[in-house]
Amino acid sequence: MQTSENTFEKLKPYLEKKRKLSHLISLLNYDVETVSPEKAIDAENDLISDLYGDYIAIEQDPEYVRLVREASEDKNVNERQRCLLNSLLKSIDYTSKVPAETLREWNKLTNKCTEVWRKCKQKGDYETVLPYFAKLVEAKKEEAKFKKKAKHKTLYDALLDDYEEGYSEEVLDKIFGDLQNFLTKNLKVALQNQEKLPTAEIKPHPKHEQHDLSLDVLQLEGFDFSRGCLGESEHPFTDWPAQFDFRVTTHYYPEDWRMSLFSVLHEGGHAIHGQMWPKTHYGDFVNSMATNAICETHSRFFENIVGRSGEFAPHLLKLCKKDLGGEFLTMEPSAFVAAIRHVEPSLVRTEADEYTYCLHIIIRYELERDLINGVLSVEQLPDRWNEKYREYLGIEVPNNTLGVLQDTHWFSGLFGYFPSYALGNLCGAQLFHAMGKEIDPEHAMSTGDLKPIRDWLSEHDVACDYLPPNLWIERSTGEALNPQYFLDYLRFRYLQRPKRF
Ligand SMILES: [Zn+2]
Repeated sequence: MQTSENTFEKLKPYLEKKRKLSHLISLLNYDVETVSPEKAIDAENDLISDLYGDYIAIEQDPEYVRLVREASEDKNVNERQRCLLNSLLKSIDYTSKVPAETLREWNKLTNKCTEVWRKCKQKGDYETVLPYFAKLVEAKKEEAKFKKKAKHKTLYDALLDDYEEGYSEEVLDKIFGDLQNFLTKNLKVALQNQEKLPTAEIKPHPKHEQHDLSLDVLQLEGFDFSRGCLGESEHPFTDWPAQFDFRVTTHYYPEDWRMSLFSVLHEGGHAIHGQMWPKTHYGDFVNSMATNAICETHSRFFENIVGRSGEFAPHLLKLCKKDLGGEFLTMEPSAFVAAIRHVEPSLVRTEADEYTYCLHIIIRYELERDLINGVLSVEQLPDRWNEKYREYLGIEVPNNTLGVLQDTHWFSGLFGYFPSYALGNLCGAQLFHAMGKEIDPEHAMSTGDLKPIRDWLSEHDVACDYLPPNLWIERSTGEALNPQYFLDYLRFRYLQRPKRF
């Protein structure tokens, strides 16, 4: 009789090879985003394309395909293995339909578009990137056609399924529609409430001071520097090339220390999630299954629920006093809290306050949904972007740098990714509520020792983060996703002069 061990044993050499290729691709991507000289980038991207080709070749190897199918039919596989096999089957199904040459072409097109976008962003030059972007959007529509299954009502559903299995345009339209109404309707109250709070002038601090602060904040958060490092990039991100390698980056803005501080808390949250994976799980190749919504839940949990809480603020202030000095030496905790919770409709998503953040995501969701479904053209995109900012946030977009060109996602071919950020906020509030029934998270924050929180997360949700996100939140918290927890959380923190938050 065939056992799950046997079927998995036979697959392991292939999974190991794929893991090593992913490792290399990750390292090269990190290099391109952080330290590569401008003129070396083309060659590095070429190398990435070749490695990606090797990765795809494994997925298209008939013996590998046969072994995955064989293991999938094995009734003895455990739940973790079943989730991994479902994902491998999904990938095989896709790559078996698309010619390898087409996949390589799309990968090259994506890298080229990202590279042109990088040059155009600062100039606000949408015209130059437009032809590349138009081709990329067409390629994504083609990709969606290959991925579309009976359960997908639209092309966008097929791409969303890659990121957040179990969610659909129909479900998100409802969740985000309600959330947008709530946020836009109550924005005025949030703004009025903060008028009564103390204010702190935001003074400039040089990069080296902010770098010291970043290292200390990561330490406080629980980041393990023996398994990770901090770099610098245009757009902050986290990558985990390997089990003992969790790399976070930040971007320093000398004029506003809050930008990097909260990027570091956010990216640190991503890395800590990975650093909580049990060592024993690494060998079964399931660790990378956590979806973006699950990853964003952790990053946004540490960034916002912890990082902007009144309880944790004195500990952050203490580090600011140590590393930045100046105005912080005499700053009251209440003024510090007011500074880090300041609500102001703004143009740039990554700089948005906690209250308005989801509106930035909802705008992107609505636009990318319409782009992929063919309702909106790439030529119309900048104008529609600007209209939505006017409608939802009440602000005018002065140029494309601060508008449609600000995020790398679309220009790197990531469509269906943005909803994860908002879902992460919703799930984070639900986890916070659930953990409050068993431990006292506010007390942990007030002591500055977040270990009880990390332990709870490790036991309840990191332990099942290989599940699709809708099942994961149910297993972690005991109930299906309930957006009400996030609305209550925002109401407490921003609309009702909070006690608890
Ligand atoms: Zn993130």
